[in-house]
Amino acid sequence: MGKRRRGRERQENCVSCGRTVPRDKAVDFNKRSFFSTDLRTGDNVSLFTETDVYYCISCAKHRKIFEKKKKLAQMRRGVF
Ligand SMILES: [Zn+2]
Repeated sequence: MGKRRRGRERQENCVSCGRTVPRDKAVDFNKRSFFSTDLRTGDNVSLFTETDVYYCISCAKHRKIFEKKKKLAQMRRGVF
């Protein structure tokens, strides 16, 4: 065991191709989804979920996640 370990390396699965990628190489993307039954009565049920998904680098590139992240960063910079 000559390899030096940097703490505990977490593995993440790419949601697109299922490849296992180490956490520091995986591209995390915050996926937000909103569900609503759109009922105007009191029975209306709305659900807001926020999940972190991980992509491998090739899938992230293919899905233009880097560009989305850039845009998000710019928007945040504009707000604050
Ligand atoms: Zn992938």
